[in-house]
Amino acid sequence: MTKKPPFIAGNWKMHMTISQAVALVLKVKDLIRGVGNVEIAIAPPFTALYHINYLLAESSIRLCGQDVFWEKNGAYTGAISPEMLKDVGCQYVIIGHSERRQYFNETDEIVNKKVLTSLKEGLKPILCVGESLEQREDGKTIQIVRRQVIEGLNNISPGQMQDVVIAYEPVWAIGTGRTAKPEQAEEVHNSIRELLYETFNLDSVKETRIIYGGSVKSNNIDSLMAQPNIDGALVGGASLSAEEFSRIVKFEKIQANGNRQ
Ligand code: PEP
Repeated sequence: MTKKPPFIAGNWKMHMTISQAVALVLKVKDLIRGVGNVEIAIAPPFTALYHINYLLAESSIRLCGQDVFWEKNGAYTGAISPEMLKDVGCQYVIIGHSERRQYFNETDEIVNKKVLTSLKEGLKPILCVGESLEQREDGKTIQIVRRQVIEGLNNISPGQMQDVVIAYEPVWAIGTGRTAKPEQAEEVHNSIRELLYETFNLDSVKETRIIYGGSVKSNNIDSLMAQPNIDGALVGGASLSAEEFSRIVKFEKIQANGNRQ
């Protein structure tokens, strides 16, 4: 089985007009030229996807949606289907981001419906999970994250697992400048990996990318990536700077070893 490369995705959230997005992606493309052994994705706002898809035609950078609806098509005003995202060039889609859970009342059940439809339509989900500060302080981190993973992946077939990326994003670390300590993140990632083994009984879950998100910057990516179960990063704020995002994707291990062990 070939080892999957680390996965680093930039979530631009509700930022960037089309012209700003074009300028940013051109800069990122330029700065990461020649970087190998890492899979890079960007998630611009829906309005910029069409233009960016053209600009990425000759690039290895993948395009990612920030959200998706769970129905294939129909009378769902304002919603975007997996087919539409694929049509505009997306291979990945972020599902269950804590901002969607918080501001759009997304439950684990909704998240699961989105994951199932995306997989069925050939779009790879990045399933986001993570505890609030209160839940961490109550000692409930592992319990909460495990529940979100189990419910988010409910009814997924073992074969579909190869297309799933899981992003552990402690809510208290998103956009706050507070990053989980590498050991804190590793503890959760390890527990997610164990859970995947228990659930799917598959050796291939060793290959499932479990990425970390929460104030990732160029000055903390190396220590995070040094952890055995951290396979990449979901980067929010720092992905809006081409220079900073390119420094993150060139994290130490790739530069030093050409590959991650
Ligand atoms: C995110 O939006 O997924 C995220 C991790 O944001 P930030 O890097 O800004 O904390």
